[in-house]
Amino acid sequence: MSISVQHVFKLYGEQKALDDVSFDVSAGQVVGFLGPNGAGKSTMMKIITSFIPQSSGSVTVCGYDVNEASIDVRRVVGYLPEHNPLYHEMYVREYLEFIAGLHRISGNRSRRIDEMIEMTGLGAEQHKKIGALSKGYRQRVGLAQALIHDPKVLVLDEPTTGLDPNQLVEIRALIRSIGKEKTVLLSTHIMQEVEALCNRVIIINKGKIVANDDTAVLQQNTGSSGTVIAEFDKEVAKHQLLKIAGVNDVQLVSGNTWTLTGKPGIDIRPEVFKFAVEQGLTVLSLNKSANTLENIFQQLTRP
Ligand code: ADP
Ligand code: MG
Repeated sequence: MSISVQHVFKLYGEQKALDDVSFDVSAGQVVGFLGPNGAGKSTMMKIITSFIPQSSGSVTVCGYDVNEASIDVRRVVGYLPEHNPLYHEMYVREYLEFIAGLHRISGNRSRRIDEMIEMTGLGAEQHKKIGALSKGYRQRVGLAQALIHDPKVLVLDEPTTGLDPNQLVEIRALIRSIGKEKTVLLSTHIMQEVEALCNRVIIINKGKIVANDDTAVLQQNTGSSGTVIAEFDKEVAKHQLLKIAGVNDVQLVSGNTWTLTGKPGIDIRPEVFKFAVEQGLTVLSLNKSANTLENIFQQLTRP
């Protein structure tokens, strides 16, 4: 197992940032760690990379315990922190040399740096100061830094946050190619990112794991098979919609448009029509909603 997390708790004072978190990531997987802000993603990643200790529970990376063998953990893990703390006064190359030194990279250090610059597309920027780079290029420096010691496991904390759409596409392509050779755990609050990059998704909310499955399986299984979007001609009260047979959950989209979620496997559309007739409403539109990760995520992490 590349990453094994067992019954981890993390307390910040009174607050439980992680509340009995367990999951495994096996070698070669690209796993999306998804959750709203404050869910505990960064905290979990800092523990996995041996930057902060957990309050209780156990975590191993490639078999190394994060507390007892933190040096080995740092050897096998590459980490791109959330607020990628780069030295703005350093030149790109100088910084990578510095990081290579920290990792005591033996052999031809300069060639390894060339490889990283090539892999992350930093060629044209390599003689600039980090402070002079755009956010997208700083993320590339962060990835080069995380990869320089050829780690088996990569932990990327919101690697695409703050990038413009072009940079986003480029960094995702880079992560996809890296993911062919390494185990990757990447956090994000962007669902499309998980759909684009990950074969597995772990969803965390308020410090607890609320879903952990293959991306495709989660899309099939999570009861939104029966989710429809209905627009009525007049105002309807939520409590009335909740009385429709088979309806589990109701959310207002806007105006008189609602998302109605049925019990798994039930098509609620006939009942919605019947309800409309009984109430003297006209159904202006009634569509099955695509079973996207986006609405799965919203169902699982709604406050
Ligand atoms: P995420 O990365 O999912 O946005 P975090 O792991 O950063 O979430 O934070 C989880 C919770 O723990 C949040 O409520 C946050 O405010 C709290 N938290 C994070 N770091 C600290 C800290 N150093 N001291 C106190 N509370 C913290
Ligand atoms: Mg975070």
